[in-house]
Amino acid sequence: MIARWAYKHEVPIYPEGSSTELTGSSIPEAGGVVVSFQFMRRIREVNIVDGYVIAEAGVRLAELDAVLEPKGYMFPVDPASWRAATVGGVVNTGAGGMRGARYGTMREWVSGLTIVLPDQRGTILRIGCKTSKCRQGYDLVRLIVGSEGTLALVADATLRITPRPENLVGMLAFFKSVEDLMGAVVDYKSMGLQPYIMEFMDSKTVSIAGSSLEGAPVENGDALIVALEAPREAASRFEALLRNVALRRRAFKVYTARSTSEIEAMGLMELRRRFFPASLEYARRKIGKPGSRVMVLIEDIAVPPSKLPEAVKAIRRSAEEKGLEVVIGGHVGDGNLHPETWFDPGDREWVSRVEAWFEDVMKIALELGGTVSAEHGIGKVKRRGLEMELERLGSLRALEIMAQIKRIFDPKGILNPGKVI
Ligand SMILES: Cc1cc2nc3c(=O)[nH]c(=O)nc-3n(C[C@H](O)[C@H](O)[C@H](O)COP(=O)(O)OP(=O)(O)OC[C@H]3O[C@@H](n4cnc5c(N)ncnc54)[C@H](O)[C@@H]3O)c2cc1C
Repeated sequence: MIARWAYKHEVPIYPEGSSTELTGSSIPEAGGVVVSFQFMRRIREVNIVDGYVIAEAGVRLAELDAVLEPKGYMFPVDPASWRAATVGGVVNTGAGGMRGARYGTMREWVSGLTIVLPDQRGTILRIGCKTSKCRQGYDLVRLIVGSEGTLALVADATLRITPRPENLVGMLAFFKSVEDLMGAVVDYKSMGLQPYIMEFMDSKTVSIAGSSLEGAPVENGDALIVALEAPREAASRFEALLRNVALRRRAFKVYTARSTSEIEAMGLMELRRRFFPASLEYARRKIGKPGSRVMVLIEDIAVPPSKLPEAVKAIRRSAEEKGLEVVIGGHVGDGNLHPETWFDPGDREWVSRVEAWFEDVMKIALELGGTVSAEHGIGKVKRRGLEMELERLGSLRALEIMAQIKRIFDPKGILNPGKVI
């Protein structure tokens, strides 16, 4: 109904889940109506035998997990914001997370959608299937995944689910240099390992996050956190493999655990969990002048994993040239880096240095054969980056095709205007 009304009166509408996105894609700016999905919270069906759930757009990933966990199942896409992030939000950003190297992103896990079009009739379309194999002509489901609320309102989603791993073997290793650490990542990957989790935090992030950690291991170095699925019978073999590769790459301290419960008891994942809150606290302390505001900019690029050491070096060099403090962490198993910096948005000169660095980071990703946006999307802040990426590929025509697709779904251009293209 709202879609029909907005079409008739040409009022912009802005779909909203929990507003945790990081690219400005949920910001209403041109006047209009925010359509919140917070009250559409029903999980309509949980089907273990056929391997899917149907959840309304406002269901949070943590709520979904609370239902699946007792059944030994999970929805594998796990953005760090999973306690708040909604089904509609993760579908529309095409989100990823720590388990991305093993399970990919939303693109792989959405098999069907109910969508509402902003047209004369407020057309409701059910697209996709409950089965994992499904051909329905052009793949409209995948077109909506990652469309950032610009093509349709998502009412509910059919999501594939998977059994929780029986057992995990874990490692937290500290290195004196990022090159050594990335060398270990390349070694694990060239052995064909598909880690459940493979996370990197540079030494500065470690010291910031570690300063408020109690009872979990922290050392003064760059950290690599790995978890592998391994049946209990094979746990010690996988543990030795993780440890030996890290030591061969000159890790100076290696902690390992042979089971999921041991990983938790030893706190091997605690550092990673502190990544975002710790940098925000640090930025507040650093800027901390009365009256000043603090913003933390979280970048999101991906490069082929073999190019990670070069990427980290170049990102740091650019920050140094611009007099910026940065911390770098990310989901290195799939080459996804999240460099961060912070600034006072009231300080124009500081903001312009941050903007220049932001553009440099995107260029670095492209030069190394990567992409300007791995999992956070385009929103407002990466529209220039998207153009740069397509231009480099000689494919600017793709932007025109996207604009035509947008017009087919949203003839009056009222759905989340000013985002993506
Ligand atoms: C601390 C922190 C950690 C994060 N970690 C990760 C991470 O590891 N991986 C990752 O991928 N992202 C991460 N994010 C980003 C963010 O949480 C994800 O993008 C998430 O998918 C957004 O979900 P949301 O419900 O908050 O959506 P919102 O932010 O409300 O919306 C996101 C986009 O989807 C659109 N939208 C929302 N609901 C609908 C709907 N029903 N129909 C149509 N359009 C809709 C909005 O218009 C907007 O364009 C993180 C964010 C924070 C703050």
